[in-house]
Amino acid sequence: MRINHGAVADHSLALVGVAALVCLAGAWATSRFFQRMTDGEDERGAWLFLTALASGVTIWCTHFVDILGYRPGVAMELDWTLTAISLVIAVAGSAAGFLLAAGIGRFAGWPALGGAVVGLSVSSMHYVGMTAMHMPGSMSWDSELVVLSVTLGVIPAVLALQAARSGSRHAANQMCLLFAASVVLMHFTGMASMRHGSGMAGMDMGTPMNQASQYALAIAIAVMSFVTIGAGMVGYVIDGHTRAVTLERFRRLAMYDVLTGLPNRASLNDRLDEEIERARQHEGRLGLIVIDVDNFKEINDLRGHPAGDEVLRVLGARMAELTQGEDGAFIARMGGDEFVALCRLDGSRGLTGFVDDLRRVLAPSIALGAETIVPRASIGAAVFPDHADDAETLVNNADLAMYRAKSDPLHNVCLYDASLDGRTRSRRGLSADLREALDRDELFLHYQVQTAVETGEPLGYEALLRWQHPQRGLISPDEFIPLAEDTRLIVPIGAWVLRTACAEAVRWEPPYRVSVNVSAVQLIEPGLADTVRDVLAETGLPADRLELEMTETAVFTDREHALRTLEEVKAMGVGVALDDFGVGYSSLDALRSFPFDRIKIDRSFFSGSGTPQQTVELIQTVLSLGRTFGMAVLAEGIETDDQLALLSEAGCGEAQGFLFGRPTALEDILLTGQLTRAQ
Ligand code: C2E
Ligand code: CA
Ligand code: CA
Repeated sequence: MRINHGAVADHSLALVGVAALVCLAGAWATSRFFQRMTDGEDERGAWLFLTALASGVTIWCTHFVDILGYRPGVAMELDWTLTAISLVIAVAGSAAGFLLAAGIGRFAGWPALGGAVVGLSVSSMHYVGMTAMHMPGSMSWDSELVVLSVTLGVIPAVLALQAARSGSRHAANQMCLLFAASVVLMHFTGMASMRHGSGMAGMDMGTPMNQASQYALAIAIAVMSFVTIGAGMVGYVIDGHTRAVTLERFRRLAMYDVLTGLPNRASLNDRLDEEIERARQHEGRLGLIVIDVDNFKEINDLRGHPAGDEVLRVLGARMAELTQGEDGAFIARMGGDEFVALCRLDGSRGLTGFVDDLRRVLAPSIALGAETIVPRASIGAAVFPDHADDAETLVNNADLAMYRAKSDPLHNVCLYDASLDGRTRSRRGLSADLREALDRDELFLHYQVQTAVETGEPLGYEALLRWQHPQRGLISPDEFIPLAEDTRLIVPIGAWVLRTACAEAVRWEPPYRVSVNVSAVQLIEPGLADTVRDVLAETGLPADRLELEMTETAVFTDREHALRTLEEVKAMGVGVALDDFGVGYSSLDALRSFPFDRIKIDRSFFSGSGTPQQTVELIQTVLSLGRTFGMAVLAEGIETDDQLALLSEAGCGEAQGFLFGRPTALEDILLTGQLTRAQ
């Protein structure tokens, strides 16, 4: 029912405009904060707080800015408690609504639900705010307009939050406009729904409410909108800036080395591709220089990691300075103690000049606290297109040259040389292949007989490893065992040899001994004794039929550990032989301290330059040593009858060599009938 008594309500148009502006600004802030909140990054709670505060203050301020200019035609008093409650409703309702709208999970209705809650809190704020206005006479409401006002508050709010969560590019702007629409439409329709009763004729229409209240309200609104929206905006901008800084930091992290600030490997790759492309187009040349700090590990170990870091930083800075301003010059840290420099060689300066400059800047000593160190580096260089026609080969070749520089005590700068560095390359390729050899079944064993000199009877067989490489054919153990040791692949490979040889030998008839070579690396690693124990248990080979062969070098690498391992192995009943005696230290010490069962005289004894008489004397010396320490003596590398005669003359009981049999596949030994295999 409409009641329209005499007094006419009126709005100050200027303040309506201000209210709309406040509303738009607040809606803009609210939408941005909400977007940040739902970005799924951290500090969601803080962003929710800001969103709710901005939204609540926007609703409230829009309402009261308009009220400031509202001239109901009667005297009006503000109830401050209710005014404050209306603000709390706006903020709390917004918080609940935005929290719902950001709802996680599969339910697609969260934004609409949240929007509805926001819309309802706009209306609740409005009507509570209206009851805060005490005016004389009766107040009544046009119920249809009230319903319309609530609807006009809720629908745009629902749409606003649906838009916000739509993921569209304009989500934030859509939300801003719809949210502002919700607040404005709700408010003005709500105002229109109010009717107030009679009686106050003669009121000064120019005084909407008493001056004091008006000022207080104006100040409250100004402070609140300014502080909330303003502070929020500043936060938003700062956050945006922080994000930009963070992004830049990520970018640097991806392209730059943290310690030295130099470009990293990824940058180098990009740059190298560009420079090679450029060199191709201009028919120019490009030098790639690998710089590796010498003894870096030592610096780290002796003076601590901070000192090592400092050295890298200083050297990096010096090289960076050198490349600065030079067209096309570039320096990157590859990680560890390795740097790579690029320089165009089409200018007036050649590679040598650039490398000399590098050496010059690297040379000055570096102060580390009270001490100083004199840095040294090994430098390898390769030139496109002289030494490589693609980036990868260029890097590899410069690397190979650097390795040569590192291992050469006389030169610390080397330029790639195909004939010198080719060997290193093939070694590297080979060690990659060796990694696969076990899995691909390319390894197998040959066996060489060990013979009793007097009777010519077999005593046992030595297992010798062979590698059938798919492209290169049969590769000698002298070539690949050192590789396997460098890469520690010898540990699994050695275990495989042991297992295979024992599994084979357990079926031999007669039950001859089997000898297996053990490398220094296997001896250093813990677990050799366990491997031996496991293999014996698995294969069922009696321990006394197994003998491990090792060189002096191997046992001296880690004497204490080797001694413990040998004693453990011997305690199982396994034999131990000292291999290649006469080429190493040939120290009595080895014989005295290690519990060997057998000494194997190296074949160089017989192929050497000594007269037969000297050879006999040498053998006799070893034999008497053997007697002293209770060890059998076996002569290796016996190829001729003359050598055999010398052995007999010297009184050596055991021999091995081509004369008795070459290392042979077991199938072939079986064919000779020397050995049979139980099924
Ligand atoms: P080694 O233990 O001294 O093995 C004896 C080497 O001398 C074998 O070379 C054998 O073929 C060779 N040889 C035997 N009799 C004669 C002869 O009358 N004259 C000449 N000139 N040579 C003879 P191979 O098989 O090439 O093995 C070379 C080395 O590779 C071995 O020397 C051993 O140190 C290492 N090796 C072989 N198999 C293994 C293994 O399974 N594990 C480890 N760790 N090392 C192994
Ligand atoms: Ca051997
Ligand atoms: Ca040997």
